[in-house]
Amino acid sequence: MVKDIKLKVDAKFVNKYRGGFPLIFSDAISNLKDLKEEGSVVKLVDEKNAFIAKGYYGKQNKGYGWILSKNEQETFDKKFFKNKITAALSRRANLFADEETTAFRVFNGEGDGVGGITIDYFEGFYLINWYSLGIYHYREAIIEALKESVDFRGIYQKKRFDAKGQYMMEDDDFVAGERGEFPLIVKENGVKFAVYLNEGAMVGVFLDQREVRKTIRDKYAKGKTVLNTFSYTGAFSVFAALGGATKTTSVDLANRSKPKTIEQFSLNGIDYDAQDIIVEDVFHYFKYAGRKNLKFDLVVLDPPSFARSKKVVFSADKDYTKLLKEAIAITEDDGVIVASTNSSSFGMSKFKGFIQKAFEDSGHNYTIVEQFSLPEDFRTVKEYPQGNYLKVVFVKKLSL
Ligand code: SAH
Repeated sequence: MVKDIKLKVDAKFVNKYRGGFPLIFSDAISNLKDLKEEGSVVKLVDEKNAFIAKGYYGKQNKGYGWILSKNEQETFDKKFFKNKITAALSRRANLFADEETTAFRVFNGEGDGVGGITIDYFEGFYLINWYSLGIYHYREAIIEALKESVDFRGIYQKKRFDAKGQYMMEDDDFVAGERGEFPLIVKENGVKFAVYLNEGAMVGVFLDQREVRKTIRDKYAKGKTVLNTFSYTGAFSVFAALGGATKTTSVDLANRSKPKTIEQFSLNGIDYDAQDIIVEDVFHYFKYAGRKNLKFDLVVLDPPSFARSKKVVFSADKDYTKLLKEAIAITEDDGVIVASTNSSSFGMSKFKGFIQKAFEDSGHNYTIVEQFSLPEDFRTVKEYPQGNYLKVVFVKKLSL
């Protein structure tokens, strides 16, 4: 049995934790060195040793674990997790009832009361993401709690924690129930996606962009030429094509992106030969498009927060302005750039600063026409706004 550990909260941060801040982070704690085994229950106390809250120790890039309760007597057992899970499920009742959408998030970490874990739903299957060895320590209680709370076909998991410096990718992510046959075909607002729950970290679709995809399809695609950069499996391209885009161009560096994108188009009855699917570094593609004088009506930018290709390192907080300038140069006047980032290292106002700078430097005016953060199923808490990492801004480039 791992022992409870008392963590002393620096006086400056006591009110923050009393107010419900959920993350244990190094600046706030004076005796972090007492943390030994991940999964240990920790009790935060103030300078007079008075109890503030309790949680667990689990190392993530964000911090050292999460607060789970303000009740000193609480035990983190199956019953505790079952209460959290059933509350989370009932908040998603509308999504469970929606026949046009069969893939969404059912449990979003600290937003649903337990930081370090997320659970996604895919057409009868549940996928658990464990973000630290610390939360994985509670796996039995959590998996049992989930099994008792839902009807499921199968349960899969991803261990996204760093053990001894190595990313843990298992050969088999199957946990319980029946094994899926992959691709599993799920729906999102009536559009099909092929999902693979047992092939590495990414399953084929990023569920947090649901509203953005719908908006592109329903309001921005008709009659437009669309460039989708960092396109992965082409999800934005598929929605744009279904919304009546005259043509989509998808660009991604990864070889797998081409067959994956063809698969998504085909599933939805779109002739993929009429679309361009290009395996290339986005920055090379911008140069090519510039030389050929190509222009697009709608340009989607959804880069990873950080990526290293052969020659280039891209980091959203340093390079987003540059990326935008490249996009502005190949966007038609009155065209729209969908600027998206999932970087949690900056917020919406800084992101809008990048947009302003890029348009200023390019000598163009612009107007913001839509704006999104995480959808409701990616629940966040007001005490931890950093959890709301997604920022998507639709920017119209105005003619001079
Ligand atoms: N926009 C996608 C998700 C992007 S995931 C969607 O909505 O589904 C990030 C993708 O960026 C990965 O597929 C990765 O292969 C690609 N990528 C990373 N660096 C790149 C680069 N320099 N040029 C092109 N693609 C890149």
